[in-house]
Amino acid sequence: MVVSDAIGSEARFDAVLVGAGIMSSTLALLLHELDPEMRILIIERLREPALESSSAINNSGTGHAANCEFNYTPSNLDGSLNISKALAINSAFERSLELWASLTELGKLSPISFLHSLPHISFVWSESNIAFLRQRYKSLSTNNAFKDMEWSEDVKEIKEWIPLIMNSRDSGQKVAATRVMRGTDIDFGALTIAYLKELQLSGAVEIRLSTEVVGIHRSYDQTWRLSLSGNRNEYSVETPFVFLGAGGGALSLLQKSGIPEGKSYGGFPVSGQWLVCNDPSLTRMHNAKVYGKSAIGAPPMSVPHLDTRWIKGKRSLLFGPFAGFNTKFLKNGSRFDFFKTIKFSNALSLIQAGAKNLDLINYLFGQLQLDHSARINALKEFFPQANSEDWTLSIAGQRVQIIKMTQNGGVLKLGTEVVSSSDGSLAALLGASPGASTAVSIMLEVLQSCWSKKISTDLWQERLKKLLPSFGKEVASDEILLNKLRHRSDSLLGLK
Ligand SMILES: Cc1cc2nc3c(=O)[nH]c(=O)nc-3n(C[C@H](O)[C@H](O)[C@H](O)COP(=O)(O)OP(=O)(O)OC[C@H]3O[C@@H](n4cnc5c(N)ncnc54)[C@H](O)[C@@H]3O)c2cc1C
Repeated sequence: MVVSDAIGSEARFDAVLVGAGIMSSTLALLLHELDPEMRILIIERLREPALESSSAINNSGTGHAANCEFNYTPSNLDGSLNISKALAINSAFERSLELWASLTELGKLSPISFLHSLPHISFVWSESNIAFLRQRYKSLSTNNAFKDMEWSEDVKEIKEWIPLIMNSRDSGQKVAATRVMRGTDIDFGALTIAYLKELQLSGAVEIRLSTEVVGIHRSYDQTWRLSLSGNRNEYSVETPFVFLGAGGGALSLLQKSGIPEGKSYGGFPVSGQWLVCNDPSLTRMHNAKVYGKSAIGAPPMSVPHLDTRWIKGKRSLLFGPFAGFNTKFLKNGSRFDFFKTIKFSNALSLIQAGAKNLDLINYLFGQLQLDHSARINALKEFFPQANSEDWTLSIAGQRVQIIKMTQNGGVLKLGTEVVSSSDGSLAALLGASPGASTAVSIMLEVLQSCWSKKISTDLWQERLKKLLPSFGKEVASDEILLNKLRHRSDSLLGLK
């Protein structure tokens, strides 16, 4: 093993991004578009980019726009629905579409390689769930962002929308559905690779694969020194800016950085599994993402859905996720991951969050007990004629949910959070949902907190607005702007 400690100019970068998933690749792309001279290094521990959560088979591939996912419209205490999260997610997804439309117009991206237009449907079958869906429909469809949402309780019509699910269903069963035609299925792995290819062509961005960041320290002159291990070498690189886009690996790196802002964070891993079907006679009969309502006590990330997927261009059906628990923070991680992140500074948050979420822990252990026939029975609630032999089990990516200390003690958070140092020299992305669909908005947040001076210069503003003409404007509350954005991205979705 060669150990090198010298830092030459070739080992100094303007920005070092850890992890080659959708988050780092989006940030690298934005930084490069804003400053083509910037020397950026992306470091990835695996042999290829996008093999963890961003890989298509490791996530649901839903272009989350809150069209059909019940967990984005929780009930208020007075029984009304809170739609603010749904509106925020919808706007964030419009921003992603806006970037992709610009890159496509510039000849830097080909939507066909990663994006398919696909109806997003919510489907329910009990009185209480039908009442909830009706309320959801009424609350959302009066808003411009969801004005095209359709409602149906008509069995014949729903059969036309989702024949596979409705055929052979008990004719006496009451059902209801909403549909948004402007939905998507996205291969985030293919998108990551498309971004990285474009960046490598530029020559300004270097990607080092099979290389792990094993240490991260601040030098006396305030630059960051990252210790890397790969190809039987150990060496260091230096940079004034680090982004920890390491997915489940971000928490332990944040702890290693020692920044005070990261001290009270912990993580709780939730694993997932899918049932996958590649039989063309069935895949042909289903053309939608169909989200149901999760069982009482189930965590929001385990909302069951039956989806048409295109993974590496191949069409399949995917049902799940079935949640579970193991102590890895990455699918290709170690069983010690969870234990290694337990520190004196976050132990209390972990204990308090655990005590408040015993239902979730019970639910996850219950899911671990499921065998193939129990999973097929869950699928049959959606697709009554499902045949066990047509479906195989596939392991999904790991989600590491955030645990943090708040005024109310340690809590488990289900969203994503950017944690950055007060001087903006380091940022880490923690959490999992709504994730990849909103990567553009999340990375704009990183730019705003870590590159605040540069982003307010005329040059960066001008360049940003070329890519994202709606930058700095409120998409959700501006009907004319939203219509304009959608008109532009309709061509991406094959809608014009
Ligand atoms: C089951 C499941 C379903 C999901 N469904 C959806 C969905 O439908 N829609 C959606 O928008 N989002 C979804 N998500 C969330 C989405 O997949 C993630 O938010 C997104 O992929 C995270 O991207 P990332 O780049 O942060 O992480 P990752 O893709 O996990 O990339 C992190 C990379 O960092 C590398 N790494 C880690 N540690 C180190 C280290 N020390 N040194 C070097 N490299 C390191 C890893 O190998 C990995 O390649 C889902 C996630 C899961 C798990």
